[in-house]
Amino acid sequence: MRNSLSSSDSAGPGIVLKEGREGPVRRRHHPWVYSQAVERVDDLDAPGGLLPVRSADGSVIGWGHYSPGSLIAVRMVAFSAEKPPEDWVEQRIRTAWSLRNRLGLDTDSYRIVNAEGDYLPGLVIDLYADTAVVCPHTRSVEAGLDRIAEFLCAEQPGLRVFVRRDEHFARVEKLSIASGYVRGDGDGATVIKEGNVSLKVDFAHGQKTGYYLDQRANRTLIAKSCVGKTLLNLFSYTGAVALRAAAAGAVKVTSVDSSRSALELGEGSVSLSPGLRGDTFEWVQADVFSYLESPSRCDVVVADPPPFARRRVERDGALKGYLSLFQQCLRVLSPGGLAFLFSCSGVVDRPTFQQVVGEAALRSGRTARLLSELHADVDHPVAASHPEGEYLKGWMVHVQ
Ligand code: SAH
Repeated sequence: MRNSLSSSDSAGPGIVLKEGREGPVRRRHHPWVYSQAVERVDDLDAPGGLLPVRSADGSVIGWGHYSPGSLIAVRMVAFSAEKPPEDWVEQRIRTAWSLRNRLGLDTDSYRIVNAEGDYLPGLVIDLYADTAVVCPHTRSVEAGLDRIAEFLCAEQPGLRVFVRRDEHFARVEKLSIASGYVRGDGDGATVIKEGNVSLKVDFAHGQKTGYYLDQRANRTLIAKSCVGKTLLNLFSYTGAVALRAAAAGAVKVTSVDSSRSALELGEGSVSLSPGLRGDTFEWVQADVFSYLESPSRCDVVVADPPPFARRRVERDGALKGYLSLFQQCLRVLSPGGLAFLFSCSGVVDRPTFQQVVGEAALRSGRTARLLSELHADVDHPVAASHPEGEYLKGWMVHVQ
């Protein structure tokens, strides 16, 4: 079997790009090719297989997975004519996993594979203590799930593997996979450790893969600033911020979320950590915007809303939403208070986000200082050639 295709294979199989559309792949090693840039695709017999990607003159500029029907038509996995080795997925998972093992994370749970950020487009793997939750975003990855599960169990004997269906990607990519265990068995949930607290993660029914690992470092920072203070934790989900803050010495922690099941899971986690007392916590099922119409004062406020915009057309509306939410957050703070304000909308970039925070500070009538810019934690790397991989942005703000 030959391993590389040369530029003379101009009539060969694969994905052929339109004239002049190969620049981002060839020069910037950008991992996405949009459907408008694709001229034609030949030889689709092997679903899940890698196809050569060719410029308009037929020369092979790399290899990728094709997603018919998706706006991102091709996800590149290599940027030369040479075909990646047969075990390229296993090799890349091993590299990603060993990177996590040297980050010194204070937890038994972390993201092993962050899709494009680990040069494994379409694949997310989160480790929750004894269970790896694998979430495929493309059919190509779905087709390779059994091999991935086999590899994970060989690397960590005894590991359970749970595949989580993501409804958004299932619709776009026409995935057939259902959620469930593919190695080992269990009840779809487990207890993890983060810092000095234990908490329950429900990866069968929870949001995303069950938990927001990306906020770990920010939770640590928030917890440190809550010693002897009161915290208002808006969009709390399962209360991870609340549990970390209480363990660090917060005197009163109020969590607000619209999801009853998320709040119940959080409340159920309180008894898992010795030293936490139920009466430190208040769990409020409410719409945050209604709640903020008559809030009590607090020393620290956290606002970590879901993405207000997923598409570019929704961006202006999202900015108005952030502006109004953040103003109210700053107004609710007692003098000397701290706000942790977040956006996970990919279409809102960092400079725009900072402008919104600044404008909210001005309109709130408070004298505000921007203390620290916040990111997703280090187990969520962004490939240097793929700035779009960064989505979580935040600011730590002090008000006088
Ligand atoms: N900070 C959390 C993650 C927040 S995810 C953590 O560190 O784990 C966003 C949360 O916002 C979800 O739990 C969702 O149920 C909730 N949510 C979305 N819209 C809401 C609204 N209008 N009012 C209250 N909660 C909302």
